[in-house]
Amino acid sequence: MPRKCSICIHKRRNEIETDILNNVPYRDISTKYNIGRMPVQRHKKNGHIAESLIKAHEINKIVNADDLLVKILHLQKETLIVLSEAKEVKDYSMILAAVGKAGQLIELQAKLAGQLQEGRIINIYVQPAFIKMQNIILAELDNFPEAKYRIAERLNKEAANV
Ligand SMILES: [Zn+2]
Repeated sequence: MPRKCSICIHKRRNEIETDILNNVPYRDISTKYNIGRMPVQRHKKNGHIAESLIKAHEINKIVNADDLLVKILHLQKETLIVLSEAKEVKDYSMILAAVGKAGQLIELQAKLAGQLQEGRIINIYVQPAFIKMQNIILAELDNFPEAKYRIAERLNKEAANV
């Protein structure tokens, strides 16, 4: 008869599993709970972690990512306001700063999308809010062809990886 899994009967099993799902290195888990590294690996590999717990964890990740996306969209809105004000008064250094910020925010979105894709959870590129914001920013960049080209190229590259 095979030996019982020491993690399954561990009194801090919940915490250990949460750490595993958070991708805490096995080495660190082993130190933290004073347990062997192999049993932790086996516990995961042999599917001892409840499917429902894994699902709950993934849902949490989506919620957190969504939260981040909302913050990014808010920052983009602010950036666009600054950009249009700068254009009105023809403050070119401000325009460039705002364009640079908008580009960074798009990259951040792209990175966030990449992370979400790794978990094959959602595709940000088909999200209406993302497409809308992307179009607005690209339109705002009409007078800055070089920046527009760079950002569009980057977006295409990221979207192609999806
Ligand atoms: Zn186990």
